[in-house]
Amino acid sequence: MNLFDVIIIGGGPIGIACGLEAKKNGLSYLILEKGCIVNSLYNYPAKMQFFSSSEKLEIDNIPFISNEAKPKKEEALEYYRRIVSSNDLDINLFEKVINITKNTTNYTIKTSKATYTANSVIIATGFYDIPNKLNVPGEDLPKVTHYYNNPHYFSKQKVAVVGASNSSIDAALECWRKGAEVTLIIRGKEVGKRVKYWVRPDIINRIEEGSIKAIYSANITEINEKEITVKTEEENIVLKNDYVLALTGYRPNFDFLTKMGVTLSNDEKKIPTHNTNTMETNLKNVYLAGVICGGMETHKWFIENSRIHAKKIILAILKKK
Ligand SMILES: Cc1cc2nc3c(=O)[nH]c(=O)nc-3n(C[C@H](O)[C@H](O)[C@H](O)COP(=O)(O)OP(=O)(O)OC[C@H]3O[C@@H](n4cnc5c(N)ncnc54)[C@H](O)[C@@H]3O)c2cc1C
Repeated sequence: MNLFDVIIIGGGPIGIACGLEAKKNGLSYLILEKGCIVNSLYNYPAKMQFFSSSEKLEIDNIPFISNEAKPKKEEALEYYRRIVSSNDLDINLFEKVINITKNTTNYTIKTSKATYTANSVIIATGFYDIPNKLNVPGEDLPKVTHYYNNPHYFSKQKVAVVGASNSSIDAALECWRKGAEVTLIIRGKEVGKRVKYWVRPDIINRIEEGSIKAIYSANITEINEKEITVKTEEENIVLKNDYVLALTGYRPNFDFLTKMGVTLSNDEKKIPTHNTNTMETNLKNVYLAGVICGGMETHKWFIENSRIHAKKIILAILKKK
């Protein structure tokens, strides 16, 4: 009862790819997902458009047809949901994995609802649950958020957007276009180089014409109900402010990994130990899949280049059988 060849933790695109590959190869498997199907994608901004074209987001060559070359969030939700339903994948939703312990020959997986045993475990938990904090006074005020959804809410408001990468630049442009007064607080000296090539000129032009204000080499040092304090190399600036969108990236749940015994590289990258051919960690029969493999280097892996993890891992599991 409840003994599986493999348990997959996380029902994102890559966890789903692993489930599909396990099923195709006759393994008993279960995907455990703490939210809805592709929970991270569900929580992305409402109007988000992928930077990848749809064929690069496909799992197992199942066609992903989108209206434009680069699909929208809604289309991706539809695609991955259909993969789950049309392949009748075994996935338990709204069931969070609490911890994993090693037994003599297998692993016990304890969740918010049940306990399972599996010979192998795949961790595909992504990084979208834990935001990188500003660590400044006032960050816990309700006006501060690390997740952005819809620009309408911010119309006619004074909004500080922190960050210079895709998420913050998209949010700044969308909010400004819905009538917000936007100030970008950028830690470096320019808008990020990795900003989508068709968006970068847009934001640079908006900054140059003065529609969106940008403060470079700057950090927020304090937030209160009506103002923020921004420190630059030269001065401290106090700005009137209604909302702060702190879109400064996210990080994997390192505690979850280390508690179960997965080691991390001893530097600021904190890359979880794994064999890049098999994706097996330092724990026998425990594998990593998807963006979690990059540790703090969260830009390194995405759907496009990590979907191959599923085949690598299932092959490694089959070889051991
Ligand atoms: C705004 C934005 C745009 C992007 N655009 C692109 C793009 O164009 N192309 C591209 O290739 N990539 C893109 N990415 C990155 C891409 O979305 C991620 O690479 C992708 O979601 C990674 O898939 P994953 O399955 O590894 O992780 P996730 O999709 O994050 O899935 C992890 C899942 O694990 C679940 N989980 C976490 N902890 C637990 C637990 N303890 N128990 C059970 N379940 C748990 C989470 O709820 C989540 O559903 C974008 C990301 C963002 C933020």
